[in-house]
Amino acid sequence: MTVRNYDVLVAGGGNAAVCAAITAARDGASVLLVEAAPKFWRGGNTRHTRNCRIAHDSANEVLTGPYPVEEYMEDLLRVTDGETDMKLAQMTLEQSKDLWDWLNEQGVLFQPSMGGTLTLSRTNAFFLGGGKAMLNALYRTALSLGVTVEYDTEVIDVDIVDGFAKTVTVQKGEDTETISIRAFIAASGGFEANIDWLKEAWGPSAENFLIRGTPYNKGRVLRIMMDRGVQILGDPKQCHAVAIDGRAPKFDGGLITRLDCVPFGVVVNANGERFYDEGEDFWPKRYAIWGRLVAAQPEQVGYVLIDEKSINSFMPSPFPPDKADTIEELAEIMGLDGAKVKATVEEFNKACRGTNFNHNEHDDCHTEGLEINKTHWARPIDKPPFYGYSLRPGITFTYLGVKVNSDARMIMADGKPSGNMFASGEIMAGNILGKGYLAGIGMTIGSVFGRIAGREAAGNARN
Ligand SMILES: Cc1cc2nc3c(=O)[nH]c(=O)nc-3n(C[C@H](O)[C@H](O)[C@H](O)COP(=O)(O)OP(=O)(O)OC[C@H]3O[C@@H](n4cnc5c(N)ncnc54)[C@H](O)[C@@H]3O)c2cc1C
Repeated sequence: MTVRNYDVLVAGGGNAAVCAAITAARDGASVLLVEAAPKFWRGGNTRHTRNCRIAHDSANEVLTGPYPVEEYMEDLLRVTDGETDMKLAQMTLEQSKDLWDWLNEQGVLFQPSMGGTLTLSRTNAFFLGGGKAMLNALYRTALSLGVTVEYDTEVIDVDIVDGFAKTVTVQKGEDTETISIRAFIAASGGFEANIDWLKEAWGPSAENFLIRGTPYNKGRVLRIMMDRGVQILGDPKQCHAVAIDGRAPKFDGGLITRLDCVPFGVVVNANGERFYDEGEDFWPKRYAIWGRLVAAQPEQVGYVLIDEKSINSFMPSPFPPDKADTIEELAEIMGLDGAKVKATVEEFNKACRGTNFNHNEHDDCHTEGLEINKTHWARPIDKPPFYGYSLRPGITFTYLGVKVNSDARMIMADGKPSGNMFASGEIMAGNILGKGYLAGIGMTIGSVFGRIAGREAAGNARN
């Protein structure tokens, strides 16, 4: 059988992969992109995205004002507590300025942000039609440039000798094929869909986690890189995790399963006890800690309880809430100890102080004297009917990844750059995001490093 040869093989089918493939093809390389998912499900977590955070000097038809690189950097340092590779971060934010034009040139369209989108209208460019439409545009461009795309095809091995990838083995159904390459780009996401790997980090509780994105991000390429001497960075426990509706599907529930009603109510665990300040800060600044908070509770479940006053104050869930005329009844419908939850809510109601409820500011509605006080937006839960939603940890993506340099080149365990292996997107995002998250930066990292990886891989193939 003849062995196929490509200048560049890209593993993955999301934003990072297709940006890399387009750039390498424009630079004259023959490119094979292999996507583990079937065509209908192509595009990994990118399908679920809405926007990309980009630095820019002035407002345009979509972005409502300037967002200088310096401000972007301040935002990044705040969320990561400084845990970032400063050189790579600076380069990424500077190059994000080109993305508006570049993505437009690839056929991606943008739209103004809608209300209720975490006040991102100045900083984040929203894709017209969402991530899936954005990807469709990128794929159309990649195909028009001659990129070969193979679906249902998983990278299962990479033969690496002295930091140099020689061949890549892929599997399609029962068939495997070894392909000869000049350069390899890993753009295959994190390992969040690999529950066994999550269990290695989190213990058995990870069995109860829900995965907000694709079931195809199992970290297979990341594991190959780990086993074949590529330098790995990050903590396997670090991930972006939010509290989502407990009835969401195991995978791919996407954005709509997020529940934004926590600041309006109280949250109890399976023992009927509150466990954290629901009103600590504005929800956009706090929603990403609630996945971890729920993960630390018995059975990895929480229950948010609200009353009639709040039911229309947040983006509705696709799943109707449980509803009852008394808190006790509601708790029992939700499988909780009714008397215990009633006592918790009564104690909370008695502790509420302040009268100027305003969820758009840090208002004076708070509790006093509780073991865990609620700092803002604390109103008695006393107006029937009462509503409840169960909460589960929803993992967005993991941060463990491969170390890269400013050419997107993977760094080997001995500190030397690989001869021909590059990485972009979630698989290397840990270089920038040591911890924390800034809405929209995932797509920035994928696009910036995708373009660099594509350019460098094509250059490698020529030499
Ligand atoms: C619900 C949700 C909403 C989000 N919203 C935003 C947002 O608005 N803005 C933002 O910046 N970020 C957002 N993110 C994060 C964002 O999705 C990621 O940062 C970004 O899409 C990562 O792109 P990527 O190409 O690296 O990975 P992905 O888009 O996940 O693509 C990885 C690809 O690799 C493929 N793959 C995996 N293993 C293999 C293998 N062995 N062989 C071949 N292919 C393989 C997968 O099938 C997949 O196509 C969101 C994530 C989720 C889950």
